[in-house]
Amino acid sequence: MALPQGRGGSRIDDPALSEKAPEDRAIMARSLGYLFAAGGALAFVALALPSANDVEQFGHIGPLEWASVAAATLLTVFLFKAPERMGLWAYQLILASGTALISAAIYFSGETASAYVALYVLAALYASYFFSRLVAAGQIAFIGLSYAVVLAVQDALGSPLARWLTIIGTLMAAGAMVRALRERVERLIVALRDAARTDVLTGLYNRRGFEELFEAELERSQRNKGRMSLLVGDLDRFKSLNDRFGHKEGDLALQVVSKVLRTHKRKIDTAARIGGEEFAVIVPEAGEHDAYILAERLRHEVRRAFADHEAGITISIGVATYPKHGANADALLISGDQALYAAKELGRDRSVIHNPEIASALAGAASRRMAQREAYLATVLALAEALDVRGPGNSEHSQRVGRYAEMTARELGLPEEAIDRVRIGGVLHDIGTIGLPDSVLGQPGPLDGEDWAEVKKHPEVGARMLESSTVEDISSWIRTHHERPDGTGYPEASAARTSPSRRASSRWPTPTRP
Ligand code: GH3
Ligand code: MG
Ligand code: MG
Repeated sequence: MALPQGRGGSRIDDPALSEKAPEDRAIMARSLGYLFAAGGALAFVALALPSANDVEQFGHIGPLEWASVAAATLLTVFLFKAPERMGLWAYQLILASGTALISAAIYFSGETASAYVALYVLAALYASYFFSRLVAAGQIAFIGLSYAVVLAVQDALGSPLARWLTIIGTLMAAGAMVRALRERVERLIVALRDAARTDVLTGLYNRRGFEELFEAELERSQRNKGRMSLLVGDLDRFKSLNDRFGHKEGDLALQVVSKVLRTHKRKIDTAARIGGEEFAVIVPEAGEHDAYILAERLRHEVRRAFADHEAGITISIGVATYPKHGANADALLISGDQALYAAKELGRDRSVIHNPEIASALAGAASRRMAQREAYLATVLALAEALDVRGPGNSEHSQRVGRYAEMTARELGLPEEAIDRVRIGGVLHDIGTIGLPDSVLGQPGPLDGEDWAEVKKHPEVGARMLESSTVEDISSWIRTHHERPDGTGYPEASAARTSPSRRASSRWPTPTRP
């Protein structure tokens, strides 16, 4: 058994890797505010200190300097009050205005070696940390341009080019370092988040990852008014595998099941291990029938993967669909679990689509005996619905027969309880077709002798399925639902007629499907 590699499927976009998320805007605004506060305060202190050449100048601050300090203060206050949802462009503009302010301060200081040049570092670091590579490069280029203009108009002494290169080179190196650090931290955060969502044994999403993704996928479906489905699977009699072969073999089997799910789901589906030997598959943009077909494929592949294994592991799967079986994640999970319960009740190694009858039967039945009876009935009803999707053109056939039966019973004036029973009988009438292969069910023309013999068994099979419960009345209706008033039909009346050709001469049309 090979160990599975990699993750379980589609992923939600990671906010840490996208453009700055809104909650980061507050940090961006505050950080920029601190920069302006620091710049303004440093400028003020520098201005207030005496100049070495001119002790008289001590404490003398001119109107231009006042204006610069006041602008920095105003921007600081604005940034601390700034609306968090201010666009990224606004931050870029404010930072660029900071650069312009620093350049003006250098120019008005009249000194070629002005200490204000150091403030450029703050702007470069901020841009490298908070903006994309391109925007950060643009901001540093703007600093380079402004500084070049200042040096040019200032009539700088010495070598202005060497000065410019040293300053801008330093800014670029500092910016690159901050950028590398930030990306490293982000990668670490993503790795940690992934680890928290991953099941160590199988590499699939764990329960936590599943819940996050399920919510996100559900939200998407709600927004788009679309459909989506959920498969909830539980391995059959897994405890006995552990007991017979040991826990290690059990773990290995869990890894094989995970690999099967990962390999045979669609690309956009996500598989998760949500419990010990419980799995879930999120199936976006799929109604119950598509999800059922997927569930059957996965079930079949699990069975195939263990065909040579002594324990022969199988899986039971419950199918629930949004919005039909639940409007939110909790409701859908409950529906999926109920359908899974139905699959187990019906004998395991099968998929069952959720049926609301299950919920009401389980919740509404008063006594325990009643509850058991109703639960059984509900599981069979769920199976009847699941069977409806097997043959082309057969969709909702049993539901429709149930409705007609109900209408007929109502017309006949039967009491309410009997009407409900007749309806259930209608829904269940073809339950015995469970044993028929798809090729027979889907065949459009008349059936040959062998297939026909198989088809004729379905009333008997269906009746036997209900025999052990307290629904004998329905069981007897199912047994006789192909008998005809004129004495033809099957299985009873046709016992004497073995040839399908003789049937064709009957005044009833030749049946091709149950
Ligand atoms: P059922 O068909 O009704 O589901 O029968 P079951 O035996 O599978 O019953 P249930 O689902 O209640 O049993 C779960 C068992 O799965 C219990 C435990 O022995 C086994 N199991 C749970 N987690 C692990 C695991 O991580 N490794 C192994 N090897 N076994 C596990
Ligand atoms: Mg279990
Ligand atoms: Mg189990």
